[in-house]
Amino acid sequence: RAKDAGGNRYELADPDSEARAIDRHSLTNRLPAALERDEFFLEYQPLIRMSDGRVDGAEALVRWKHPVHGRLGPDRFIPLAEHTGLIVPLGRWVLEQAVAQTCAWSDGDPLRVNVNLSPRQLHHPDLVPDTIAVLESAGVEPSSLCLEVTESALIGADEDELKPLWQLAEIGVDIALDDFGTGYSNLANLRKLPATTLKLDRSFTQGLQQHPADPVDLTFVEGIVSLAHALGLAVTVEGVETESQADQLRDLGCDTAQGWYYARPSSPGEFAKDWAPTG
Ligand code: C2E
Ligand code: MG
Ligand code: MG
Ligand code: MG
Repeated sequence: RAKDAGGNRYELADPDSEARAIDRHSLTNRLPAALERDEFFLEYQPLIRMSDGRVDGAEALVRWKHPVHGRLGPDRFIPLAEHTGLIVPLGRWVLEQAVAQTCAWSDGDPLRVNVNLSPRQLHHPDLVPDTIAVLESAGVEPSSLCLEVTESALIGADEDELKPLWQLAEIGVDIALDDFGTGYSNLANLRKLPATTLKLDRSFTQGLQQHPADPVDLTFVEGIVSLAHALGLAVTVEGVETESQADQLRDLGCDTAQGWYYARPSSPGEFAKDWAPTG
């Protein structure tokens, strides 16, 4: 603490946070070149149907193979890309890759693929035409795509801002509310959103790992699941790391699960070995 360190409350920012700022700056500057030079790549994590343990889809998760810093996770660069607007071309690249990948895995019905959308993409006028174009040129049914939007990105959105999502939902694209339960949204608003799935945030799954499970978390999950089902929404749980969590969440009525207990995100080749449909 500054005071303990000599009484001067106005000493320089700590070197760590300074280094991080420089890092952010140089990462931000590098983003456009990274997209041009194909430094981004996708990993896939299976979504597991809880009733029978079979694969029900895959979430595409972007990573960056940085020439100096090596592999970077999305938390390091998605906020930067969102800030500069590069998320729009990057997001389109992710969508194209993910849709092409699900075709490559299948020789029949493609596996459903989930793609994350950031707020900036959501508000971009090309979202609907771009998405339709990507699906059409790959020959993939809209129902094979699920777009994940965080609950917090939709808080306060008015009818006009939700229109693109409704349009996509109307042609059959699934819409999932990502990280659900963290955004303090009004539950009554759920009926005004074009969502087909709630993805319950990992924090709830973590609460179930304690012995005994956190009763508040149990009650929340139970309540959210019955509300979602009453509204015709499916429930996916994130961050399932243990068998005990999986068992409890299945008993609580969750439909689909995702997490390290089943599989970590992996390359398309690794994913195909364990999970891809054989047509
Ligand atoms: P998310 O969409 O909620 O994705 C789930 C995150 O949880 C992923 O982190 C995944 O690797 C991690 N995860 C999965 N199972 C477990 C588990 O059992 N335990 C734990 N502790 N973690 C688990 P990741 O890949 O680092 O992605 C972080 C976030 O970055 C994503 O959260 C998503 O919001 C964003 N993101 C990833 N790819 C994209 C993208 O292509 N576009 C946009 N706009 N955002 C993306
Ligand atoms: Mg997601
Ligand atoms: Mg999520
Ligand atoms: Mg999350």
